[in-house]
Amino acid sequence: MKKMKKNDIYEITIEDMTEEGAGIGHIDGMAVFVKDTAVGDKAKIRIVKTKKTYCFGRLEELITPSPYREVPPCPVARQCGGCTLQHMTYEKELELKKDRVIGCIKRIGGVDNAEELFEGIHGLQERADGCYRYRNKMQFPIGIDKEGHIVTGFYAGRTHSIIPVDDCLIGHPVNSFITKAVISWAERYNVPAYDEKTCKGILRHVLTRIGFKTGELMVCMVINAKELPYSEELLSYLTKAVEDYGGNIKLTSVICNINRENTNRILGDKEYTIYGKSYIEDLIGDVRFRISAQSFYQVNPYMTEQLYDKALKYASLSGTEKVWDLYCGIGTISLFLAKKAGKVYGVEIVPEAVKDAKENASLNGIENAEFFTGKAEELAKELEERADVVVVDPPRKGCDAELINTIIDISPERLVYVSCDPATLARDIKLLKEGGFELMRFSVHDQFSRGMNVETVCLLKKYPMDTR
Ligand code: SAH
Repeated sequence: MKKMKKNDIYEITIEDMTEEGAGIGHIDGMAVFVKDTAVGDKAKIRIVKTKKTYCFGRLEELITPSPYREVPPCPVARQCGGCTLQHMTYEKELELKKDRVIGCIKRIGGVDNAEELFEGIHGLQERADGCYRYRNKMQFPIGIDKEGHIVTGFYAGRTHSIIPVDDCLIGHPVNSFITKAVISWAERYNVPAYDEKTCKGILRHVLTRIGFKTGELMVCMVINAKELPYSEELLSYLTKAVEDYGGNIKLTSVICNINRENTNRILGDKEYTIYGKSYIEDLIGDVRFRISAQSFYQVNPYMTEQLYDKALKYASLSGTEKVWDLYCGIGTISLFLAKKAGKVYGVEIVPEAVKDAKENASLNGIENAEFFTGKAEELAKELEERADVVVVDPPRKGCDAELINTIIDISPERLVYVSCDPATLARDIKLLKEGGFELMRFSVHDQFSRGMNVETVCLLKKYPMDTR
C-alpha cells in the first residue's frame, strides 16, 4: 500500500457518514474522513492529517454530487453541531441508520443472520412536518456576539462558540418566541450572559420542554447566581411570547436552575420554581407522565409510542410476569408495561426521576409498579423477586459488564434491550450471547431525525438448556 502524505490529492467515493456528519471513503482500504461531503459523492480531496489506520481529508472539488444530496432548509445547518444530515434526503438517512445498526450487530455482535432478524426501520416520513419539528426538548446556550449583544443558539460542532439560531427547525416553533423574549428581557434589564472564560455573568442556558400532547410548556433558566434577577419581568416577557406565538401552547412552568460550576454540564443540582408547577405533564398512549427539568424523557414523542409498543410486544406479557425495568427514568416503560404485567420493578440512578416515577404510578392509578433509586448494576443483584422479563434502556455507554453478568445469572425468559447506541448495544449482545442468550428480533426507530443517532429495540431469549 502506498504511503499517504499530507497534501496528497485523491479521488474518492463517499460510502458512509460518521456520527459527527463527516463523509467516510476509502483509499487502498484505509478510511478517510471528509467534512462537507454526503454519501454517494464522488470527490477530489486533499489529505490534511494521517494516522496509523485512518486519515482526514478536505473537500477540494465535488466531481459528481451525490443523488441523495438536498439543500438544507436551515441556514446554519453547516456550522451548527446539531443536525449532521440535513444535506441528505430523509430516505437515505433512514437507509444509513438501518445499515449502521445491522452492520454493528453483525460485526461487533457476531450475529451473522442480522438481516433476517431485522424487523424494519420506523421513521417520520408520514408526518406533515416530516423529519422536522419533532423535538420536545431544547437547550440553548446564552452568550454575547462580537458587538456585545446577547445571543442564543447552539454550539458549533466540537466547540463552545455559539452559532446564533433564530428558529431551530427540529424543535417547536414556539422556541424562537421564547429565546427572543429572553434576549429582549436580558438586554432591557442588563442581565449579563455567563462567560465561560472568566466564569462571570449570569445567564448560561435557556431550556424548553413541551408536552406535545398536552401543550404544556416549561421554560428553565440556568444561571450562575443564587437567584434570577428581574424574574417577575421575565415572566411577563415569556407570557407575552407564548401569546404572540398564538398556537396551542400553555406556559405552565418557569424554573430557575442554579449552576455555579465551571463545567460542561448544563444543569446544576439546585432549582426553584418561578412560576406554575415544577414539572410538565405529557401522555404516551394513554399513560400520563410528570416530567421535571432534570428527568430524562424521550425527545421525539412521535416515535416514542411506537418504540414502547415494540418493547411491549417483545416483552409479550400475559398479565402475571414479574418485570424489571432497569434504567427506568421517570418510569415511562415501566408504567407502559405495568398494565399487562403482574409486577414491575423500576431502577434508576437519578433520585428526582424516581420521585417522578412514583408520582406517575399514582397519577395513573397503577399499583403494581415499584421504583428504586440506585445503580442498575448494583440493585439488580438485590431485587428479591426473580424476573421473568428484564427490560434495559441504558445511556449511550451501554450496560455495565456487571449487570450483564447478573442478567445472565438470573436468566429471565425474555430480555428487551432498548438502546440509543448501536455499537455498545452490539458489544452487549456479544456478551449476552456468550452467556447463553440469543438475539431473536430487532427493530430500529428514528428518534433523532437529521442526526446520526438512532434507537434500536431488541428481543433476546435464553437458549433452552438442552440445546446449549
Ligand atoms: N427508560 C427511560 C429512560 C432511559 S434513559 C425512558 O425511556 O424514558 C437512561 C436512564 O438511565 C436515564 O434516566 C439515566 O439517569 C439512567 N441511568 C444512567 N446510569 C444508570 C445506572 N448505572 N443505573 C441506573 N440508571 C442509570
